[in-house]
Amino acid sequence: MRFSDIIGHHEIKDALRRMADTGRIPHAIMLSGPAGIGKTRLARAFAQYVHCSNRHDGDSCGRCPSCIQHQALNNPDMHYIYPVLRQSNPKRSVSTDYIEEWRKMLTEDSYMDSSLWLTLLDAGNSQPAIYVDEADDLNATAALSAFREDYKIFLIWLPERMRPETANKLLKLIEEPFGDTLFILVSNDSGSVLPTIFSRTQRFNLRPLTVTELTEALIAESIDRNTAETAAQLAEGSLINARTVAKADNDMVEFSDLFKSIMRAAYARKLVMLRQLTDKASAMGRERLRSFLTYCARMTRENFICNLHQNSLNLMTPGEREFSIRFAPFIHEGNAPQLLTQFSLAARDIERNANAKIVMFDLGLHLCALIRATKRPPA
Ligand SMILES: [Zn+2]
Repeated sequence: MRFSDIIGHHEIKDALRRMADTGRIPHAIMLSGPAGIGKTRLARAFAQYVHCSNRHDGDSCGRCPSCIQHQALNNPDMHYIYPVLRQSNPKRSVSTDYIEEWRKMLTEDSYMDSSLWLTLLDAGNSQPAIYVDEADDLNATAALSAFREDYKIFLIWLPERMRPETANKLLKLIEEPFGDTLFILVSNDSGSVLPTIFSRTQRFNLRPLTVTELTEALIAESIDRNTAETAAQLAEGSLINARTVAKADNDMVEFSDLFKSIMRAAYARKLVMLRQLTDKASAMGRERLRSFLTYCARMTRENFICNLHQNSLNLMTPGEREFSIRFAPFIHEGNAPQLLTQFSLAARDIERNANAKIVMFDLGLHLCALIRATKRPPA
């Protein structure tokens, strides 16, 4: 992975290059930001750059032995740590036990959709975590000298999934590391990273990708320009979302109908109907359900904007616009933020493998209360 393979994030690339070029690399950095914007790709490009023996034009060469090993995911001084499942038979509880699945993940989709990781782990209802055994392994590896490079690099994917006991065992290492050790943490949710770890890293917050960047990326993936432009506008800066939208035109009609029906049932407080509708949503499967919840959040935002009469900012299909004429007045400053929070909490619970029927009906009940909330009086 080279810097030139990464879409956007120019300022952060420059900052990382400068650190490597001047030899002033902190012991631990954290790249944080929403999912699907290329954080892990950037972390890998930086690691390859640090190790490259023939950097030029601000990038790694892609051809030296170290680069070739990085690209084949087998550089002996590059270590990956990621959430796994704890299994007793055969005993598996650390990242290296899952290296085959991990290589498959990086090869199939280096934008690191965490739901793909759950699928590869065959996680069922279990929640992957970074367990304490990982800290023992990591401490042992860190104590060894680097094989060939100046730095041993540890890329920790999703440090927010680290158990407190793991973090406790790693603190000393992150605080007073061996001189040749570099930690790169890649977080989708830096607010949930344990504060003891968070405070010991130098942070880089990556912004969502722009509509132009996403459009170009989709076109490069052989998606026609019209679809690419629409999907890019709806993707909230994430290439994972943009791909989902671009490849799911058909879903949009279904999502739109279901969203309208759920909102109508919530407003009328028809609980039996609401239950049927939320059950229908929960039967979509985890990945489509997450897309549906992203859609619900978008419609809420669009209707709020519509209610503010800022129609020029609106991104809706003609059918959605028609529904909005009557629906938008119910979305206002007294409930829009809370509605968005509920959609995002439901999406998080689904991602964490909670029971979809319960999550969706619970969401439905929140919607009943919120949709009838009164506008806040002007301050
Ligand atoms: Zn190289």
